[in-house]
Amino acid sequence: MNPTIVLVGRPNVGKSTLFNRLTKTRDALVADQPGLTRDRHYGIGRVGERKYLVVDTAGFDPVAKDGILHEMARQAEQAIAEADVLLFLVDGRSGLTPHDEQIAARLRRAGRPVHLVVNKAEGMERALVAADFHALGLGDPLPVSAAHGDGVRQLVDIVLAPF
Ligand code: GDP
Ligand code: MG
Repeated sequence: MNPTIVLVGRPNVGKSTLFNRLTKTRDALVADQPGLTRDRHYGIGRVGERKYLVVDTAGFDPVAKDGILHEMARQAEQAIAEADVLLFLVDGRSGLTPHDEQIAARLRRAGRPVHLVVNKAEGMERALVAADFHALGLGDPLPVSAAHGDGVRQLVDIVLAPF
């Protein structure tokens, strides 16, 4: 069976960019504007013979009447329900935010494997990038640059290893 990898994280951390990198498509919408992608996005990725399904959780409605925290909670529940493994993306440039902490709190109780992925880490020192995010209690942060591709192959190898 092909494992389902679900990308989760607050708006603008680079989920859609990583989705495109993992599926080698331009299918997911990428924009400077947070929350542009309205719905969930599914794609197939492959390393060698190994196939996996990737889900880009998006659909953060910037004018959602119940607010962004409610919307993030809803997204997290959907992501957990669908995932064999979750990639929780954070932004190495902006550092840890309260929204990251909210999502992390839910993911720690997910009962699914979660990998903490620090995106936008190109040109940044590995140890420095990681230090900030250890506090989330989700293990060793894995630095990547979705935009440039740095660390993405290593990430996929780590994520798929148990499957
Ligand atoms: P999403 O809202 O989480 O899906 O984030 P997007 O994939 O739409 O990306 C949000 C912004 O971050 C866009 O301007 C991207 O070009 C930028 N971005 C994504 N990945 C990287 C990266 O690895 N490095 C840098 N510097 N910017 C990135
Ligand atoms: Mg997106």
